[in-house]
Parts: sequence; structure tokens; C-alpha cells
Amino acid sequence: MELPADLTVLSPDGLYLWAPSGAAGAWGLANCLLVASGGEAALVDTPYDPRMTRALIAAADRVLPPGTEVTTVVNTHANGDHCYGNSFFPGAEIVSTQASLERHCHEITPQQMHHLVHVSDPDDPIGWYARERFGSYEYADTRVVPPTLTFSGSYDLKVGGVELRLIEVGPAHTAGDLVAHLPGQGVVMAGDIVFPEDHPVHWEGPLAEVARACEDVLALDADRIVPGHGGVIGPEGLRAHIAYLRELEGLIHERHARGQGPYEAADAILADGFHPHLGAPERVVMVTFVEYHHLAATGAAPDMAALASHAARWAYDRRHAATGG
Ligand SMILES: [Zn+2]
Repeated sequence: MELPADLTVLSPDGLYLWAPSGAAGAWGLANCLLVASGGEAALVDTPYDPRMTRALIAAADRVLPPGTEVTTVVNTHANGDHCYGNSFFPGAEIVSTQASLERHCHEITPQQMHHLVHVSDPDDPIGWYARERFGSYEYADTRVVPPTLTFSGSYDLKVGGVELRLIEVGPAHTAGDLVAHLPGQGVVMAGDIVFPEDHPVHWEGPLAEVARACEDVLALDADRIVPGHGGVIGPEGLRAHIAYLRELEGLIHERHARGQGPYEAADAILADGFHPHLGAPERVVMVTFVEYHHLAATGAAPDMAALASHAARWAYDRRHAATGG
């Protein structure tokens, strides 16, 4: 994992990106956006673990005028890689959707992650997967701080002279996704509804809703879209990502119609060479289970732990393969 020492300037009027990077298919390396203007500062998303959050704060300190503190934190959704760093900003207003706040109790906790990475059976697929993909993160001291100000629909903020429109686009990636639109800068921080460099996971789904949320972002007419993970893209990159989502939806529905089970369907879609250059193919297994869940229309929310075990099993069975993200 590479933690950047410096923020990237997205706009000279106080818009900065902190973008950690790592191997293809890595989990936990989410982008954070810093808005600093007129002696005020806000952060959209906080990093996954204390080491990462300290690196982000050090990078932010190099650009923030003396005495300027982050007093507003926005969480695009409730997954830990977008909000576990919240406790490093004591006193800040933590803004997210009401649906995200309600989602917090369904999330896998840092304590559960610590257990999976350090205590669970390493020869069990989920114990093996947790160690392989999450073993470099610290969970022991992470305290989850949920949102302190929530909204449904949209919420407008001003950070100095910069306008920040928060728009609820979930349920899609999770139950409570929001995007942050900065109309004056032509930028949208999209969170994980846009996830273009690896196979994405979408915990809530269905894929039609994720594609619809991406269309909503496209309609904002921004020049630059900051995904939850990976490099900044333009509208054409987002259109390509929407095409990926629709293609996957079609393939899954076709196999469902043929009576195939979700695990076998995902396995066959990957074996047929579905975007083989993308990392984390096991996330296609998760997305397929979510899609089947919606096709079964039980009304219950998809179970995150069950999704993680299906993906872990698929990756574990292929752990000796030369490729696979
Ligand atoms: Zn994420």
C-alpha cells in the first residue's frame, strides 16, 4: 500500500485529493477529498485505519492555512474504508444520509475485522482471505463514529467560498450512498457507486440501481468524477463504467433465467473472460449473490458476512492460480 505524502490539487480554489494506491484488487484504499476555503475546511470520506488517517492529516497540514481545522466530515456511505477515520476529527460535524446512519448497525465492525484477521482459523476460506486482503490494516484501536447530522434527498454546504451539494443516490452500492457535487469546480466525489479500476462490490444493489445512480452523476455534467477507489475519470470513463454494470447485469440475469445457482453463475461469467484485466474477480461472486437476492425478491437486506464468505471461498479455491487479482 502506498500512502501519498502530498495531496493532489484538483482545483486552485481549495480542492485537494488524497488517493492511496496499491495492488490491483486491493480493499480499503479509498480516496478522500479535502475542501479548504476562507479559513474553513471539510473532508469528504475518512481513511480506513489509523496509519492511513495520520498520513492524510499530515498531508492536509501541509496545505491548510495555520489555525484551519476540519470542522465538517462527509461520509459518502457507511463502509469502514470511508468512515473509520472519523474519530480523528473530534468536534467535527459528521454529515451523511439518514439511510447511512441506519445502515451502521449492519456493517462489519472493526472488532469483527480484528478477529477475522488475527484470531479466526487461517485455514478456513474467510480466515485466509481476511489475512491476505486485510492483514495490513490496524483495527484494534478503531472507534466507529457515526454521523451527527443526517439528511434525506439533498443537503447544501458552503466551505468558505466553495459550494458543496450532497445528493443522496442510494440505495445502490449501500443503502445510504451520497455523492458530493462541487458545481463551481466541475467535480463530483462519487464514493463507491463509481469503482472503475477493479471489479466493484455492491453490497445493496441491484446493479440497475447502481447504474441509475451513475446516470444521476453523469447528469450533473461534471468534468471530473472522483471514484471511491482509483483514479479520477471524466464523463466518458463513467459511461464505460455504466456499460460494465449493465453488461454484468445482463449476464447474471441470463444465467438466473437458465436456472443456474449464483456461485456457478459467477464462476462461469468469470471463466468466460468477463473483463479479465480488472482486479478482485471474487467481487463478481458477491455482486451475483446480491443480484440473485433481488431476483428472489424476499424483501430482506443482503447479508454482508454471507457475501464475504462466498467471495472468500471462490478466491480460496483459486489461491494457487497464477492470476486472479
Ligand atoms: Zn470503498
